[in-house]
Amino acid sequence: MAPDSAWGADPAELGFDPEALREKYRRERDKRLRADGNDQYVQIAGEFTPFLDDPYVEPGFSRDPLDDEVEVAIVGGGFSGLRAGARLREAGLESIRVIETGGDFGGTWYWNRYPGVQCDIESYIYLPLLEELNYIPREKYSYGPEISAHSQAIGRHYDLYRDACFQTQAQELHWDEGSSRWTVHTDRGDRIRARFVCLAIGPLSRPKLPGIPGIEGFEGHSFHTSRWDYAYTGGDTIGNLSKLRDKRVGVIGTGATAVQCIPHLGEAAEHLYVFQRTPSSIDVRGNRPTDPEWVQTLEPGWQEKRIENFSILTSGGFQEEDLVNDGWTDILRNLSGMGRRAAASLTPQEMAARIELADFQKMEQIRTRVDSIVSDPATAEALKPYYRQFCKRPCFHDDYLPTFERPNVSLIDTGGRGVERISERGVVVAGREYAVDCLIFATGFEVGTDYTRRAGFDLFGRGGLALSEKWADSVSTFHGVLSRGFPNCFFMGGIQSGVSPNFTELYNEQSRHIAHIVGRALERGARRVETSPEAEEDWVRTLQASASANLGFQQSCTPGYYNNEGRPGEGPGWFGGNYGGGVHEFFQVLRQWRSRGDLQGLELE
Ligand code: NDP
Repeated sequence: MAPDSAWGADPAELGFDPEALREKYRRERDKRLRADGNDQYVQIAGEFTPFLDDPYVEPGFSRDPLDDEVEVAIVGGGFSGLRAGARLREAGLESIRVIETGGDFGGTWYWNRYPGVQCDIESYIYLPLLEELNYIPREKYSYGPEISAHSQAIGRHYDLYRDACFQTQAQELHWDEGSSRWTVHTDRGDRIRARFVCLAIGPLSRPKLPGIPGIEGFEGHSFHTSRWDYAYTGGDTIGNLSKLRDKRVGVIGTGATAVQCIPHLGEAAEHLYVFQRTPSSIDVRGNRPTDPEWVQTLEPGWQEKRIENFSILTSGGFQEEDLVNDGWTDILRNLSGMGRRAAASLTPQEMAARIELADFQKMEQIRTRVDSIVSDPATAEALKPYYRQFCKRPCFHDDYLPTFERPNVSLIDTGGRGVERISERGVVVAGREYAVDCLIFATGFEVGTDYTRRAGFDLFGRGGLALSEKWADSVSTFHGVLSRGFPNCFFMGGIQSGVSPNFTELYNEQSRHIAHIVGRALERGARRVETSPEAEEDWVRTLQASASANLGFQQSCTPGYYNNEGRPGEGPGWFGGNYGGGVHEFFQVLRQWRSRGDLQGLELE
């Protein structure tokens, strides 16, 4: 290939052939495409319900049902619900009740207590409200216990424990037109009336299991990573799983969760089998303790500034300085920088090719890293990811790949097809049974399924309209926070909004937005605030226009929850229903709307 081709580079100089790689990516994707998409997973219900049991609370909790009224009911006590609670408290709302399934605040960080649990986003931008709580995380990348402790600190700081209901699952929400109030019915028999409701259920809150034949017949011990059974494994979130010394353990899945817990399982188990369908891309972690001298340099407003800097860089924008300066900004800065440099002189096709080339280069580096750590050539080859960087969430870990050097750890690669069968004794791949005492499902969470299924409750709005019906074919909102027919109800999370690897920056902006709308509505003495049909239709059109630009990339990707399991555009998916202009641009849209101050597009009564 000549240097002046669409790639603008010579394979001999690059050290790889871009056309051949493209073809390899296509073949790897095709191996994994399956007709059943999201239906390949088993909903945790019926006989699988014990997989949802909370192992972190004493069994047998009971309390009298509540029959009362609050100003705001927030469903979900993770970072989005806490953020909303904090901002609404700051806006002067006195009576706020968080309703949470877990036994405490924390959401993701309540449930995910597997060994090695850590946030892959820098702690100084991920942990919310650091300046408000006068807290500096101990390390650049915080571990789970520090993050859940911070969730609880937010709960205390904003006095959200006072009215909170833990170990309580919302079951149905009904709007009463006469009183302009919602009633939240729960599994504890509560009837909680609320002027406003805020649905903060989290994007990854409902664990899923693979629909592997025989899964129900396994006779050993098993659990999902988000309900870690330390009574069985011994140890805690920092490892020392001493009770596994005489156990053969199997783990299904090699996503971001598995990457963090596998080093601990490998260290402890008599034998560990890692059942892999698609390898993750594993880059350097490079964690370090917080530098006290750096802390001394921080000036008021530092956290917002740092969050904004990350947000702009990871949205493809330009900043003089990269404050976070880690794997995320490195990847995205390279890709967008390549795009910007090329933009001046190249056609859109040539520009796309250059960006793809930068992607190939980075992924070649990731694959070369595998060879430098894993000595067995077949294992090393199986651990190499052949897809573009953002087809799956990139992982960063320093101990994952070295785990495959241990004699007691076997990688069982399924050649992209997944586990064939689960027997009473173990896991079957390519006709061979691997007997295990314990089978751990690191198989992730429901993403592309219906909102109300993931939430565990339905909503009945004006005229009894069910949200499950309104959103049966497609989700429809205004700015991702309001939906016509459901007055005084705010949605949080990644629905029809901007997507960032740093989820909490989205919650930050959404909670501001909600507090703004609630504040203005109360100032005007409105009983009801609702989006107009036109505003909602406009927003959906805006999203559709930007989503289609991303469709080609999504189609080229190996299946996963980012592309609706290989069927992008067919369901809500992950990016499918989101704002294509990037998270920073999305924030600008919300900020400009708020700066007008007139609640344009909303109906108030
Ligand atoms: P994922 O959905 O990312 O991974 C699930 C894994 O299970 C995949 O490797 C998948 O393979 C595998 N799998 C599913 N079905 C089968 C099957 N039949 N046979 C074999 N393997 C199968 O879940 P995670 O819990 O790892 O992560 C979920 C999300 O949680 C992450 O993307 C991330 O956003 C978040 N997370 C964030 C962390 C952080 O640091 N902030 C840390 C951990 C998680 P395949 O890839 O082929 O589908």
